[in-house]
Amino acid sequence: MISLLQIAPTLAEYFNVRLVSHARPVEKIHKFVCSRYPVPSVVVLLVVDSLDFRLYSELADELRTVHELAEQGGLLFECKTVSSHTTPAIGSILTGLEPEAHGIFTDNDVGKSKIKSLLEILEDAGKKTAMVIETGGVKPLIGRISYVYAVDDRDDIIEYDELIKTHTIAVLKKQDLRMAFAHIRAIDRFAHRGRDLRVAAKVTDGNIREIANAVRERDGLLLICGDHETHLKEEKRTRTVPLIVSCP
Ligand SMILES: [Zn+2]
Repeated sequence: MISLLQIAPTLAEYFNVRLVSHARPVEKIHKFVCSRYPVPSVVVLLVVDSLDFRLYSELADELRTVHELAEQGGLLFECKTVSSHTTPAIGSILTGLEPEAHGIFTDNDVGKSKIKSLLEILEDAGKKTAMVIETGGVKPLIGRISYVYAVDDRDDIIEYDELIKTHTIAVLKKQDLRMAFAHIRAIDRFAHRGRDLRVAAKVTDGNIREIANAVRERDGLLLICGDHETHLKEEKRTRTVPLIVSCP
């Protein structure tokens, strides 16, 4: 089984930049991408907060688009997670390092770590990147990432995800963009509040469909993954999440 740590090394290999990690690139993804014509010029990495492998399977009807992306010409992996918390997990997804190694545990740690994320490494190599995330973690990225879109946290998480989706689609219009990272959160919020996960999954799937359409218009590559197991009360979950790789 692969791990979330392997995403950054895989993309670093694809972009031909140097990223220091003990995790190995996923050969199957590399082959998949290199066999495309034209080879995708832009990559979107979308993290779906709290989407674990079990939820991905159980809510297959609600997550139809995501399943179709995997089943119709894409790849699906079950990945080991590295943390039960969002910020360190995303730090690992973007660096290829364990949380202890990258040291990003809270929003306050973002930008203070000496370790560069894949996006910063790409920027150093002259490849433009984008981040579409919550306002809290954004400040240190301004000036280091070409396109930074911040969305304020709010009670209405559906509205929040809608804004993340809109910004992600907007940044894909920038022809010099090589990679975008975005993070949607409705499933996580619904899980924490004990609300109907099928509703959150349906909304999430609709947002992913629109993002996938925008990626298709650019002949791009779309990676979708969870960050950790779904946080549900009184239920122990297996610590694996899906990773879907597709050229929509
Ligand atoms: Zn999370």
